[in-house]
Amino acid sequence: MPIDESKSLVGSLSVESVALQWSSVTQRVAEASKKSGRSPSEVTIVGITKYVDSQTAMWLWGAGCTDLGESRPQSLWEKQAALDAVSLSDERKIRWHFIGHLQRNKSLKTIANLSLLQSLDSVRLAQQVQRDAESLGISVDALVEVNVSGEPNKTGILSQDLPAVLDDLAGLDRIQVRGLMGMAGLQTTNPRTDFAKLRKLRDDMVIRFGDQFQLGQLSMGMSGDFEEAIEEGSTMVRIGSLLFEPIGS
Ligand SMILES: *Cc1c(COP(=O)(O)O)cnc(C)c1O
Repeated sequence: MPIDESKSLVGSLSVESVALQWSSVTQRVAEASKKSGRSPSEVTIVGITKYVDSQTAMWLWGAGCTDLGESRPQSLWEKQAALDAVSLSDERKIRWHFIGHLQRNKSLKTIANLSLLQSLDSVRLAQQVQRDAESLGISVDALVEVNVSGEPNKTGILSQDLPAVLDDLAGLDRIQVRGLMGMAGLQTTNPRTDFAKLRKLRDDMVIRFGDQFQLGQLSMGMSGDFEEAIEEGSTMVRIGSLLFEPIGS
């Protein structure tokens, strides 16, 4: 997982390279979906633009990617300002996702124009989102981020704490929980193990909470493991670095 956000991308990205990578990723998603007996339309590709500037993000949108995700509030706001000016008059309006740790003092501005908060990782954050959503007069779609591998340095709610957290979230009427988000642990030998755990956890919660929640979304899979994730039931893959590889690299 490339974490160095500046060095992995030298100046050789172009509108063509981004379009080519987008088309290759959509094709691989379609193949992985079919392989697991599902329709490609059941899997949303969220383009993670945290490594690139607004111009490059706009190329990705131009190539056909209408779900864009950021992991830092400031970067989300900047890209929204730059891209929404162009995309709002377009049929392909951008759906913005937030995927990083959200500090409570940044919640108001972050949820104001968001399609999906993928990283709801504490009840305290949820309470803040509830208050901010109330003041904005909106309701917020969210995924609960689960630390499915249990690795101590990972964000997210531990699997065993999820039922209690969902009990609390059930009382917050401005938050619509749509499912779970997670990633494979760094120590996990085969990412499928963690993806299968997350899917099982979601299925358990569906049984436990019935129609109190609509937990249809399973956001799992990144550049290095999205095909495995789709085969294990992912409905949403979050792809960053793979989309921004220069041609020929
Ligand atoms: C950066 C990031 C991604 C995308 O990772 P890539 O490996 O670059 O595709 C996905 N999910 C989260 C939570 C991230 O922070």
